[in-house]
This record gives sequence, C-alpha cells and structure tokens, in this order.
Amino acid sequence: MRRRIFIRNGALASVALGTLPLGCSPKLDTDILILGGGMAGLKLAYELEQAGRDYIILEGSPRMGGRLFSHPTLGRDVGGRGIGDRYDEVMKVVKALDVELVDITENMSSPSAIYLKGELHNPWEGDMAKPSFLEFSKLRNAKSLESLDAWYQSPQLDKPYSEFLKDLGHTDEEIALINISTNYNDVFKTSALNSLHSRAFRKYNGSKKVFNFKGGAKNLVNKIVDALQHPVYTDKMVTEIDDQQTRVTVRCEDGSSYSAKKVVCTIPFSTLRDVKLNAELTSNQEKAIKELQYTRITQIHFDAEPFWEEDGIPPSMWTDTPLERIMDVNAASEEVKLACWVNGTGADYFKEMSDAEIADFTMKTMAKIRPASEGKISYLGTHKWGSYRYNKGAYCEFGVGQAALFEDMIRPSGNLHFAGEHAAKESRGIEAAAESAVRVFNELNQSNS
Ligand SMILES: Cc1cc2nc3c(=O)[nH]c(=O)nc-3n(C[C@H](O)[C@H](O)[C@H](O)COP(=O)(O)OP(=O)(O)OC[C@H]3O[C@@H](n4cnc5c(N)ncnc54)[C@H](O)[C@@H]3O)c2cc1C
Repeated sequence: MRRRIFIRNGALASVALGTLPLGCSPKLDTDILILGGGMAGLKLAYELEQAGRDYIILEGSPRMGGRLFSHPTLGRDVGGRGIGDRYDEVMKVVKALDVELVDITENMSSPSAIYLKGELHNPWEGDMAKPSFLEFSKLRNAKSLESLDAWYQSPQLDKPYSEFLKDLGHTDEEIALINISTNYNDVFKTSALNSLHSRAFRKYNGSKKVFNFKGGAKNLVNKIVDALQHPVYTDKMVTEIDDQQTRVTVRCEDGSSYSAKKVVCTIPFSTLRDVKLNAELTSNQEKAIKELQYTRITQIHFDAEPFWEEDGIPPSMWTDTPLERIMDVNAASEEVKLACWVNGTGADYFKEMSDAEIADFTMKTMAKIRPASEGKISYLGTHKWGSYRYNKGAYCEFGVGQAALFEDMIRPSGNLHFAGEHAAKESRGIEAAAESAVRVFNELNQSNS
C-alpha cells in the first residue's frame, strides 16, 4: 500500500516538512508534476503509470477526485456521476480496474411536477408543456454542428444563447423560463456554442446507455488511486508555478515546493487564476485563465418521507421559485433522494445564506409549493459549487467571444501543459477530462522523443 504512505507523507509535509527524519522525506522532484487529482489528473497518472513514467500528483484539497465527489456527510454524490457507454476513455479505466456500474438509462426521464406562477400542476394529468423541455422543443429543429470539434471553429454561431433561442422562435417569456433550468449561468451572457457543443456530443458520441458508479463516484476514484504506484499528495494547494526553461518549480500553500521537467495543470482556470504564474503564456492563454466562466450550481439536499404517495404527484419538480428544480438525485436505485438543484444566477440567491437560513427557507418554500411535504422533509446540507474553494464553479462555460481563445489556451506553453474538462476538443464532462488527459499524454510522449 505504497499509495497510502505517500498520501500520509503529503499530509505530514503540510505541517512538519522540516522536521521529517532523513529517509522519510516526501519525494520533491520528478519528471512530470500533475497539478490536480480529479478525473483529468487521475487518468493522466494512470496512463503514465502504464507507460512506466515518473510523476507526482499534487492535489490541493484533502481528498482525491475533484468534481467526482461522494460527499462524506451528505452520503451522496454531489458532482459528476453519469457516464455514457461511449465515454471511451473513461470506460477503458472502468473496465481495466473492474469498477462496478449501475445502468440508469431507464430512470433518466421521470415526470416532473410543475410549480409555476403560484400553481402546482401534476404532469400525470393535463397536457401542460413542461418548462424543462422548452429548451429542447425548438433546439431539436436547429441545424447541428457538423462534427464534435466544430464548436470552437464556428464564430458565426458565437452569440448569446438567448439570441440563438430567439432566432429559433422562442418568446421572451419562454427564454426567461429556460433560463431557470438551463445548465448555464445566464442565457443572456453565455455563448450558444456551449449548448451546440453539448448537443453535438450527445449526437456524435452516440452513447445509448447511461451509467452511475455503484457505491458512488468515490469507487472509481479509489480504484484509480489504488492502481497508482507513484506519489499522490493531498492538501497541496499550489500557489506558484515558476517555469525556468530547464525545470519548473511549483510552490504550495504549506511552504513545500516541488520541481519537475514538465508540469501538467489540470486545475480549473477558476482557481488557476489565483496561482502566481511565471511562464511564457500567450495573450489568449492569459485572457482565458483570467476570464473563463464557470457555472455556479448550488445543491440543497434533504431527506423525505414519501409525501408524493400522499398527493399523488411525482416527487421531482420544476419550479419558478428560488429552489428552481427539485430532483431525485438517486437514479441508481429505487430509493428517492431529493435535492434542489439551483443553476447560475439563481445560485446567487443562496450565496451569503448560512446553513440554518437555507434549511429554513427550503422547508418553508416546500411547504408552500408542495403542501404534502410539510413535516415530511429534513434538511441534510448544501453544497455550493460556485464558492467551493477548489473549483469555484461546476463546469466551464464559454462566454461570447471566448471560444476563439480555445485552441491557444490548451496549447503547451514552455514546460506547461493543460488538461481538464475545460481543455477537451470534443467531449463533455467526465469524458472531457479523460480526453484532455490522453491529449496531454501524447504531447508528453512527443516532447520526450
Ligand atoms: C454538480 C455536477 C454534476 C456533474 N454531472 C456530470 C455528469 O453527470 N456526467 C459528466 O460526464 N460530467 C458531470 N459533471 C462534470 C464532471 O464532474 C467534470 O467535468 C470532471 O469531473 C472534471 O474533472 P477535472 O479533472 O477536469 O477537474 P476536477 O475534478 O475539478 O479536478 C481538478 C482538481 O484540481 C484541484 N485544485 C484546484 N485548484 C488547485 C490548486 N491551486 N492546487 C492544487 N490542486 C488544485 C481540485 O481540488 C480538483 O481536485 C458534473 C459536475 C458537477 C459539478
């Protein structure tokens, strides 16, 4: 169990590096330093391991996995969990390490109740159009991008998503409803290319099945970490990267520093912008690191007795209240686990609220919009991705004009390489992180030959 020793060394180093006896010192230099231990960092480490290369992972938080996050106190996954059968790069690892999956394809489209303008509607009765489907009602008639990587090469489509939706014939009122549940901060600011890219990914990636990780995303993370024989250090928040041409020095918040021939940044640009960078970046790279937007998501989790059996309305709901969507976040089994899923500008409503305030607000709002839930729900906790120190957002979204930075922003610069979900040409989500890791693995091989 060399890995555990390394992790402990990492933790020790953070408090007492100078007092470690000789021979117990953590390894401080390597060929390749991987910054960030999410899917991109882990996949890259896994590939380097198979190729017999030397590397160290420095992860800033106290745990591995990044946005693959099985929350210890909530007892639920709060980050990425759904993978398609054609997530080829993720699936290679899943199969090689025998990670157990649960097929959730059949559970993907459960009906949602609708709470709109003060009225609760039961989708099992009546034919009211679902606001959550509005976004896709006309989008499906729009011309698709021609390939997976066309999104960053289509400047003519790089306009506010709201304009794109308007061109498709949506009214202002419909656009306001779409803005509640769409997976972006604000349809008036985000580029239509994000949505077109997601749609192209769904179409050309061709996944027919969707899976969750049995027992949670932590099982994938743990299996990869267990397969690594090189140092994996947690609690190593990187504060400075200094590329001196022949080697790169990386300094961490705990005072430790590491040196390597090559450094791979898999950390999101939302936190990389806080790192002091001494490197020869292009102006587009500097701009992207500074300005790339990340979608804010707040999840409010609660336990519920089955109040939906009492009122005969589905448990999940689309609402025009600050709680936005109430979802069953447990597609992997019959047990309903509810959470409010609040996106983008809506998440700002809860930004400054304490846990107690959020609990109070959620209980009161639920009792109002869903009377049968009164006294039947108990607050578990909230995860705010927008202010979570290690990510500052759930996923990157390109503002209008920012896709033009993409090709430059992922290019190696001196001894620095860039991976992570934001740095994938074709895929989205967990597969994007894995795809970017494979690209960087190939870059490292080329620079080695
Ligand atoms: C709520 C939510 C739901 C999602 N659902 C899905 C889904 O169903 N399917 C899907 O495919 N994708 C989904 N995703 C997206 C998916 O989880 C991510 O795309 C993927 O996990 C990102 O991996 P990554 O390695 O690029 O980044 P991360 O996982 O964020 O890894 C980066 C790591 O860098 C670390 N770090 C940050 N700053 C520093 C620093 N200064 N020094 C050292 N380390 C640092 C972080 O702690 C983190 O561990 C979801 C994401 C969220 C948030």
